[in-house]
Amino acid sequence: MSQDNYNELVKLSKEISTLSSIHALLDWDQETYMPEKGIALRSSQKQLLSSLIHEKKKSHEFKKQLSKLIDLKTGQIIDPNLEDLQKRSLLRILHDFNIAKKQSDELVKNLSEATSTACHVWSKTKKTSDFQTFAPYLKRVFDKTKEQAEALGYQDHPYDALLDLYEPGMTVEVLDPLFKELKKALIPLIQKQPPKPDTSFFYGNFDKEVQRKFCIEILETLGFDFTRGRLDRTSHPFCMGLSSNDLRLTIHGESGNLIGNIMATLHEGGHALYEQGLLEENFGTPLGMAASLGIHESQSRFYETRIGLSKPFWTHTYPLLQKTYPHNLEKVSFDTFYKALTASSPSLIRVHSDELTYSLHIILRYEIEKAYLEGEIAIKDLPNIFAEKMQESLGISPNTHAEGVMQDIHWSMGLIGYFPTYTLGNIYSAQIFNQFKLNHPDWEKRVENGHLHFIRDYLNEKIHKYGRAFLPQELIENLTKEKLNAKPYIDYLKEKFT
Ligand code: ZN
Repeated sequence: MSQDNYNELVKLSKEISTLSSIHALLDWDQETYMPEKGIALRSSQKQLLSSLIHEKKKSHEFKKQLSKLIDLKTGQIIDPNLEDLQKRSLLRILHDFNIAKKQSDELVKNLSEATSTACHVWSKTKKTSDFQTFAPYLKRVFDKTKEQAEALGYQDHPYDALLDLYEPGMTVEVLDPLFKELKKALIPLIQKQPPKPDTSFFYGNFDKEVQRKFCIEILETLGFDFTRGRLDRTSHPFCMGLSSNDLRLTIHGESGNLIGNIMATLHEGGHALYEQGLLEENFGTPLGMAASLGIHESQSRFYETRIGLSKPFWTHTYPLLQKTYPHNLEKVSFDTFYKALTASSPSLIRVHSDELTYSLHIILRYEIEKAYLEGEIAIKDLPNIFAEKMQESLGISPNTHAEGVMQDIHWSMGLIGYFPTYTLGNIYSAQIFNQFKLNHPDWEKRVENGHLHFIRDYLNEKIHKYGRAFLPQELIENLTKEKLNAKPYIDYLKEKFT
């Protein structure tokens, strides 16, 4: 009987996921091939879908079905005979249900209005670095997000409520010491880096189709299944998953840097392999979804940095790259190339940062977001605070607001509590990599020979197949037998950059 109830709930949950996948497809089309004037209809299509999804998530029918399986107040599972993974799945469904329920329709509407206006104003004012005009719109987003945190509820810190939206179970209490430790280790290391070597051979005019073909070959080497996904070109690379059988990846349309799209492919490819590794039969339930944004990022960073910036990977790939771009690389030795690829120097812009400096960009944003929620700082002071923090951690400061506090769209989108997932991804990825090395001590030899599918199989088995069954920190602990900690990440960076 309770299996029937469970299946009935899954049916409703699948409807929500199916609608969400349609929404994603509309997004993908908008980013790739939609004609310019299609935007008005597209916006109303997406608005209609979003409200349908929201209604379904909060519907009486859904609530009734869920309450047959789990006590909505205490989270107690009603039938002990359900399978363990089904019980875990129910806990996640209840978690999502509560998030939807706690936010009033009015709050959702206000937040969506505040963010869409802020995004619009941001893209206009960023061009002229006009923070003054942008500030009231940004303030409204921050204040609405603060309201959202209050509506969601928390135990210790309002920021915990926002973190939980992106990284379930994560708290300020866990993040503060992790980030402090990272900062303490990274700042002196950054100060000791030698000047950046010559990288001019990375730049030029490259044929778009040649670039895309090279990226397709890399994806095939990683083990990406092209019968379940495709690669297109957009202004910004991304990976969008409609289901584990339909992944949409993109790289830059115009790239004057022959390495840029390869690194983007490794990164987005890592995200895509995670999605392809989710089990098809779990579509529509938490078991068929990624554990969190941080775990997602750990997969992309695993491929981008731990594999894609490793010597064995380039021992295999460099000769192919030289053959593809003889004009640039014919006379560049492997060592010169590899040094240029892995050198570190601070950048003002987060998305252009290397692996040594990236986390400091994240930590300063985290500190600002948290301080705002605590009522410690005002929006009008953000440009100065941002610049001071950048000076303190990276030793550089922006000349304009556009390359400082206004560089990211995230805050305008209401993504407060989101940035930490980037650095968590790196921390998780280092812990996972240490375990991977224990299981595959010969990994370097295999990668040098261009054999990488075993990495995908390892991550499928240890991470992907569980979906959201475990909280991120549980997943890491189960795999590595260690609590979440920054030591493997710091050790790796120290070894590489000393
Ligand atoms: Zn990513």
